Amino acid sequence: MIAFRGVRKSFGSHEVLTGLDLEVGAGEKVSIIGPSGSGKTTILRLLMTLEQPDAGRIEVDGETLWDAGGFDTGRMKLVRRRIGMVFQHFNLFPHMTVLRNVTEAPVHVLGQGREEADAHARELLGMVGLEQHVDKKPGQLSGGQQQRVAIARALAMRPRVMLFDEVTSALDPELVGEVLGVIRELAHSQSMTMLLVTHEMRFAEDISDRVLMFDSGAVVEAGPPSVIFHEPREERTKRFLSAVL
Ligand code: ADP
Repeated sequence: MIAFRGVRKSFGSHEVLTGLDLEVGAGEKVSIIGPSGSGKTTILRLLMTLEQPDAGRIEVDGETLWDAGGFDTGRMKLVRRRIGMVFQHFNLFPHMTVLRNVTEAPVHVLGQGREEADAHARELLGMVGLEQHVDKKPGQLSGGQQQRVAIARALAMRPRVMLFDEVTSALDPELVGEVLGVIRELAHSQSMTMLLVTHEMRFAEDISDRVLMFDSGAVVEAGPPSVIFHEPREERTKRFLSAVL
């Protein structure tokens, strides 16, 4: 479902991704862990076409999203639509109701009718436990509730791939659990592919099929959570885990 082939990305003279090769299978739930500044978020931003690679190729669902040698922008936009992302900061539209936040893209990007979009949005908002709040503005909700709206908004596009970028880092500690609970439920009930960058190690262990330990722009070690968290092979992984656990 996702493939990075020899992807390089620099910001100025700083090479953040140093020839990344990475594959994620359809339906797989993969967590990326590792120190800050190692390039984890850049992987997600490349998939969202918020950044452009300097070299290499990125494929989604068997089609080229980026090819540093040249690509078709129209096709890229279509491929990009198969991906939903939830950010650290929820980025909701503050002047729109919760319901409108969720229906905006389906109506304006996919051309869905208002009734169909509303019905789907209400269903998704029910799934994330916000049916009581559909007519409120984001500013009237807690951070955890806003993040759950952001999850529903991403799901409204019926993505085949969902990306989660440290989605609980900006939340008060007591609101983290409700957001992780929603993602855990999604991971266990949905067949969509999920790629997560997270500092929540227990959560990563619980929901992931595979965990990637990432450092300095490259995968240090990859394996099932039982191996990465309990019997890692690499010194770098052991050091990282003993610092964060
Ligand atoms: P992580 O998610 O592992 O914390 P990031 O992918 O966010 O790491 O960032 C990797 C490195 O790239 C960091 O040193 C960061 O400062 C730098 N970086 C990321 N985005 C940009 C940007 N748009 N411009 C300049 N530097 C950036």
